[in-house]
Amino acid sequence: MNVPKIAIILPCYNEEKMLAFSIPAMENLVGKFIEEGIASENSKACFINDGSNDKTWETIKSAVHRNKHICGISLSRNFGHQGALLAGLHALDADAYITIDADLQDNPECIREMLAKYASGTEIVCGVRKRRDTDSFFKRNTAILFYRIMNLCGVKTIPNHADFRLMGRKSVMELRKYKEKNLFLRGLILSLGFKTDSVYYDRTERAAGETKYPLRKMLAFAWNGITSFTTLPLKIISLSGILFFITGLFLIADLPAYNIITAKFTTGLFCCFSGINLMALGLIAEYIGKILIEAKQRPSFIIEEKTGL
Ligand code: UDP
Ligand code: MG
Repeated sequence: MNVPKIAIILPCYNEEKMLAFSIPAMENLVGKFIEEGIASENSKACFINDGSNDKTWETIKSAVHRNKHICGISLSRNFGHQGALLAGLHALDADAYITIDADLQDNPECIREMLAKYASGTEIVCGVRKRRDTDSFFKRNTAILFYRIMNLCGVKTIPNHADFRLMGRKSVMELRKYKEKNLFLRGLILSLGFKTDSVYYDRTERAAGETKYPLRKMLAFAWNGITSFTTLPLKIISLSGILFFITGLFLIADLPAYNIITAKFTTGLFCCFSGINLMALGLIAEYIGKILIEAKQRPSFIIEEKTGL
């Protein structure tokens, strides 16, 4: 196998403070990989500016002037982490693509191990966190619950793997054919097939800046993952409909024996069933909303400017 051209993709949303650490780290890393002969001379680290409001883009541009192994793409507005990753995977030309968060919480040194696995024929290498002890109790447990639900729904996921991964050119070309807008890349990429392996690492705290994923956004992302990969929630509605109907029949038949038809009881019953109905409708509406978004076929990202490419 020839020495591969690698592209490290780092999505950045208001990461001005963090870039002071991550740009030199990437300059160093790509330089080292080239020296060691595990990446070709034209390999690059590409910082994707996802519509930041701070000086992220200016910082990227000045790094591009200094170092030929750094390049940048600026999106026309904020498209979200997944859109920014996809922009990099579409716009760059490489043999191996590595996606990693710009805060470098995921150990960049692992890329070496990913490249070794890629060199021995693995198409997709996923970075997996060994532990989640830097997470809050709530985040840790909701994550466990999320992977259990996905598993239960028959969706292939790797617990504790997010978006730190290596993909070979072949799998990226296949991913580019997907036109879906409700992006949940970690599920989508595993659904491509191909030979997949993992590398394990400890995730560190952010060195600078703040998380762009508050609890609300994180839960919305997990929910999007479930509803864009499985229709099991809809089947649960149908099943519970049957269950409630049968229970109702039994209750009607036996009601005189219970002697509980009071105004309070019937009002309670009415509210309860209206609630269940509305929840079921809400869930169906969620899927209809997704169909609307897919039908519009709006782009997942718009590139405004490129530099160093
Ligand atoms: N990010 C992005 N667009 C967004 C939100 C986040 O490109 O709309 C980037 C962010 O700059 C970082 C990565 O996605 O490089 C992961 O975000 P963050 O570190 O804030 O998430 P956490 O690690 O706290 O879950
Ligand atoms: Mg982070």
